[in-house]
Amino acid sequence: MKGVAVLGATGSIGRQTLDVLGRHPERFKVTALSAHRDVEGLAELALHWRPGWAVIADAALESQLRARLGTQAPEVCVASGADALTEIASEAAAEVVVAAIVGAAGLPSTLAAAQHGKTILLANKEALVVAGGLILAAVQASGARLLPLDSEHNALFQCLPQGRADPREVDRLWLTASGGPFRTWSSEQMAKATPAQAVAHPNWRMGAKISVDSATLMNKGLEVIEAERLFALGADRIGVLIHPQSALHALVEYVDGSFLGQLGAPDMRIPIAHALGWPERLANGAPRMNLAQLATLQFEEPDLQRFPCLRLAFEALSAGAVAPIVLNAANEVAVAAFLNERLAFPGIAAVVEAALSQLPVSCASTLDDVLALDRAGRQLAEDEVARLQRSGN
Ligand code: NAD
Ligand code: MG
Repeated sequence: MKGVAVLGATGSIGRQTLDVLGRHPERFKVTALSAHRDVEGLAELALHWRPGWAVIADAALESQLRARLGTQAPEVCVASGADALTEIASEAAAEVVVAAIVGAAGLPSTLAAAQHGKTILLANKEALVVAGGLILAAVQASGARLLPLDSEHNALFQCLPQGRADPREVDRLWLTASGGPFRTWSSEQMAKATPAQAVAHPNWRMGAKISVDSATLMNKGLEVIEAERLFALGADRIGVLIHPQSALHALVEYVDGSFLGQLGAPDMRIPIAHALGWPERLANGAPRMNLAQLATLQFEEPDLQRFPCLRLAFEALSAGAVAPIVLNAANEVAVAAFLNERLAFPGIAAVVEAALSQLPVSCASTLDDVLALDRAGRQLAEDEVARLQRSGN
């Protein structure tokens, strides 16, 4: 029995992970579950799964969680706060840590799992974007293993021998993108896009933040940075293709002109089960793709004019370690402001661009450096959101 800690258990990836785990009760047991503020969701999951720990990130809600589990599940230890998240990602009982918290908030626990030699199933791409160097160094030092859950990176992992990209054999890595709900919209139409329209993704059901990131194509930008970290190929060797069917998730282009890609239904249980079972294959409940019914696979180049966030991510990646931290922090602030209707859709790219134009002079060699830069990026973005609100944009 492998012990699995699911961080971000109440989210889209967390729940789909538990769905797969539930299909293999003889292989896995759940050591810990966490959520940010969803006490009800976490309590319900904890009553079902009976993990060693149930952790609510917002400490103000610990007593509510305790009251809900109380006499019904006295064996489940309740804790709260950021330290408890790193604790459940580090404890001996957890052989596998599913990093499914959204945003840079997942960094400390993901890094702790890397430092403690865990098998990390990584959905939390923002952690790798802001602190790829630190996480990969910790993985190396501890003998941890990093298996990507992001569908594109999981696809690349499947198409590369041992999951490694030998720069003498691999010319290019191609990430596909559905293009999101606004793929065919003009800039004028996008200027009026509402949060409800932005989160209505054509092919995937996901959390609100990544859904907005898919609409701006910032998600693909973050994934380009994630791929650069995971496979150690330069930004000039990572390409993006718009592929509206979301059937082919990524491609490896080899130096001999061979392209190897991975096809599958757009269902995250496929990459999740792949990583949980690796190197074995596990049943996962995902629908099977019917190629004859699908019939057509389309590909087109991304439009960096209409989707400036993708350009900004490429620029940040080329600019060094500091820029991706500020890019991510500003994007998190801008997306939250858009979802709260404090910012128009094009404002997301504008806020990120403004923050990147004022990069702090700093280095990013320790966790404290990264967290300080993350705070600075958030402040720059908050200031820009406030400025845009005042000017009525
Ligand atoms: P979600 O919003 O559905 O769930 C996020 C989870 O993280 C929830 O359990 C929430 O309680 C927790 N959380 C949120 N903020 C937190 C905080 N500040 N501290 C502690 N916990 C916090 O998000 P999701 O769609 O499941 O995405 C999770 C991660 O996986 C993201 O990094 C996303 O980019 C990545 N990802 C998601 C998908 C998908 O299909 N949903 C696909 C690929 C990658
Ligand atoms: Mg993805």
